[in-house]
Amino acid sequence: MGPELYEFECPHCHERTVVDSQVLTELVSTGCVFCGATVSESDFEPANPTP
Ligand SMILES: [Zn+2]
Repeated sequence: MGPELYEFECPHCHERTVVDSQVLTELVSTGCVFCGATVSESDFEPANPTP
């Protein structure tokens, strides 16, 4: 089983990316990787990993 993946859309700059749960935690802690805005877990939605 691979890592669980999440689709992230920044509420500030609206950049989108797919991350795993570890990166999700980092983004919530440190902010958007693109613009540095504060993000929360509600900005992520579970994505189905490709086989
Ligand atoms: Zn952003």
